[in-house]
Amino acid sequence: MRGLYIHIPFCKSICTYCDFTKRVPKNKEMIKEYLIHLKEELLSYDKYFETVKTIYIGGGTPTLLDNDDLTYLFEMLKDFKKIEEFSIEINPETLTLDKVKILKKYGVNRCSIGVESFDPKILKILGRKHNNEDVYNAVKMLKDNGINNINIDLIFGVPGSDLSSIKNDLNEFYKLDINHLSYYSLILEENTILYHKYMHNEFNVIDNEIEAKMYEFIIDDLEKNGFKQYEISNFSKNNTESIHNKLYWNKKEYIGIGLGASGYLENMRYTNQTVLNEYYKSPIKTKEFLTKSDDFKEEMILNLRTLKGISIDYIKNKYDKDIINDFNDVKKYINDGFLKVDEGYLHLTKKGLLIANDIFLIFI
Ligand code: SF4
Repeated sequence: MRGLYIHIPFCKSICTYCDFTKRVPKNKEMIKEYLIHLKEELLSYDKYFETVKTIYIGGGTPTLLDNDDLTYLFEMLKDFKKIEEFSIEINPETLTLDKVKILKKYGVNRCSIGVESFDPKILKILGRKHNNEDVYNAVKMLKDNGINNINIDLIFGVPGSDLSSIKNDLNEFYKLDINHLSYYSLILEENTILYHKYMHNEFNVIDNEIEAKMYEFIIDDLEKNGFKQYEISNFSKNNTESIHNKLYWNKKEYIGIGLGASGYLENMRYTNQTVLNEYYKSPIKTKEFLTKSDDFKEEMILNLRTLKGISIDYIKNKYDKDIINDFNDVKKYINDGFLKVDEGYLHLTKKGLLIANDIFLIFI
């Protein structure tokens, strides 16, 4: 089983925190030219098509494409016949009823909406252009057209936010009556507008302890409201865990196409060019064949992101390593209550989730 990730790098404007590969298109021709190259790249992977079970169209803003371009994009995916999950990312202000109908017609069965917050002040800090009405409309249009597997993305730890803004965001989320939430903490990435403002002392970052409290509150409140956490930032109910994203955390193979996309095939990780002209000449920028030791590190860190964790027997059989006894720090974190073993799986505890990045250092 493999996944297919497709990157659409175009956005209407640039959000202040964003370090994804994205461009504001100069004109419509720029998008059309991109799609032609994207199709060419897709076809170069045709030997894998049979095994692809999930498709994820991300960005950028895939729903910035107009009806014709969206149709062109979906037409190029018509040869994939055995898709279990077909997802697309949506920016609420770009969704129209016609676009929802196109998604439905071509078999999209999961939508992920970039909401980030329901607080207008926070949306402004993040440089988001939608309002709450756009979100309500997008969810309603999707549900009215039979697309009920819906996620929204939220962000916590934004300067100026506090516990009450998080409570408000969660309450607004519950009102939408959807099954999935990805709740990320804000990361100040270099080369973003927000980072630049921070360097010019335009705001203070949220204190680590307060941010940890916010995260704990989020986990508890979602649990009380029937949502099961299945990954550091992901919560779901009614069996709607993302099949495509689980494939990344379980270190399965996926094809990645488009500007700046990355993929993992036959033990090789590759990353695409991030400059359009370079991408048009030759999409792949770097290739790296994983050694057994890279493989082990990745497998540990990716699987530990999930609440299920990693099978101790599986690691023993595959790498001949005893993860409990070969790593003193693992024992220490177990004794201190940050890691736990349940039914043969090593996993983070709630306390461990708060310092996950420190725990991952054991394997780096
Ligand atoms: S956060 Fe999303 S919508 Fe905003 S600039 Fe980045 S890719 Fe575009």
